[in-house]
Amino acid sequence: MPAPKAIQAGRAFALLAALFLFAFGLAVVLLALDQQRVVDATSRLQDQTVPEIIRFQRLARNLEQLRQEGERIFAVSSQASRQQSMFVVTLIASHPSILEHPGAARLARETEQFLSDVVRQAGTDDRRPATRYDEWQRIAARLGMQVDDVSVQGINLANTDLNVATTAMRLARYKLMTALVLVGVFLIVFMVLVRRHLIYPLQRINQVLSTLSADRPAPEFSPSTMLEIRAVEDSVREHHALLIQNDETRQVLEKLANKDGLTGLMNRRHFMQSAEVELQRAQRYRRPVTVAMADLDLFKKLNDTYGHAAGDAMLRAFADLVRDTLRQSDFVCRYGGEEFAFLFPEIGPAETEKLAERLRARCDAMEVPLPDGRLVKATVSIGLADASECPIEIALKRADEALYEAKRLGRNRVVLSSPAVPEIDGEPDTLTGNLF
Ligand code: GH3
Ligand code: MG
Ligand code: MG
Repeated sequence: MPAPKAIQAGRAFALLAALFLFAFGLAVVLLALDQQRVVDATSRLQDQTVPEIIRFQRLARNLEQLRQEGERIFAVSSQASRQQSMFVVTLIASHPSILEHPGAARLARETEQFLSDVVRQAGTDDRRPATRYDEWQRIAARLGMQVDDVSVQGINLANTDLNVATTAMRLARYKLMTALVLVGVFLIVFMVLVRRHLIYPLQRINQVLSTLSADRPAPEFSPSTMLEIRAVEDSVREHHALLIQNDETRQVLEKLANKDGLTGLMNRRHFMQSAEVELQRAQRYRRPVTVAMADLDLFKKLNDTYGHAAGDAMLRAFADLVRDTLRQSDFVCRYGGEEFAFLFPEIGPAETEKLAERLRARCDAMEVPLPDGRLVKATVSIGLADASECPIEIALKRADEALYEAKRLGRNRVVLSSPAVPEIDGEPDTLTGNLF
């Protein structure tokens, strides 16, 4: 399945941040506009509406006073008091607060006219004002209505500005809440995206790296959508492939380092390590175990007669014979030159003797063909020793002594070391010291 398209994490998060900044900036601008509207309405209220309301109040008070003075003209009995009130009426009717309002100015003029008529008529006939009281009641009612109108106009003016400010503030509250919800949603989405596309893949990579080894299968990743993460995952996979390659190389090198180049048998160093471990195991569980040393007879002569290559061919053939004759569990190495060392787990000296005898006999019967068609033969002498109760070095030393005994007795034979050979401080003797 092809991996889904991937994008750069840096670019993706920059895009998200830009989107967030745009949305947040827009919310801030809208909030600022609302706030400006509130500020405008408040300053208009302060600079224009409040003085206007004061003017309306003054007008209302003057109209009311006009009405009261008119009422007084009808209530008092002396002409002097009437003229006094008439004086106040004239003053009020020409007051700037009344003159600047056309409706009020018209009504004030009419009232002044009417009251001046009444006062003049009262000067000639004292009963005359009473006859015109009904007319005055109508004018007074109109004055009252005008006072109400003016008061309502003032209140309306203030209401308009207050409404604008209240609406703007309410809108701002909704926008602020919307912006906060947006910020919350964005943060949640951001966290989810970061977790899913950065944190989880990084945790998986960390987990894979902590257990990465050549003997484990190649790590599996669900394809990431982030290019950077994908690059790291690819590197981890390459690293794993490299680990396997290195491990294979190491195994090959290890085998080569443990093997004898000519015969393919274990080399002496590897044999000593393996034999020691096996011997310790056998001794811990009190299991029988035997060691042997074998040496091809008169090998120098074979080399001298047929050449070194023939000697090598014989060594290889003998190694094949050993592999063919011994059990899988037996250990054997080319100890050096034409000498071989053995360790036989789980069998005691008597049984090992039979196995060694079979090997000797098969070697005796073996003819190795040379490239030029000639056949060469060689015999082998073998010395055996029980290894169930002593260190590997001592056991091999005893087997070597038995091997020399076999040589001394005429070669091509198997000799078992006598069990109670006394040890001198575990030191090799002069005869076999060169082997250790
Ligand atoms: P013996 O029966 O007493 O063991 O006599 P031998 O001739 O086998 O013993 P000696 O130690 O005198 O000679 C061992 C010879 O083995 C000498 C050496 O040239 C030969 N040799 C050692 N390593 C190799 C090898 O890797 N290839 C060949 N072709 N010959 C080897
Ligand atoms: Mg030798
Ligand atoms: Mg020899």
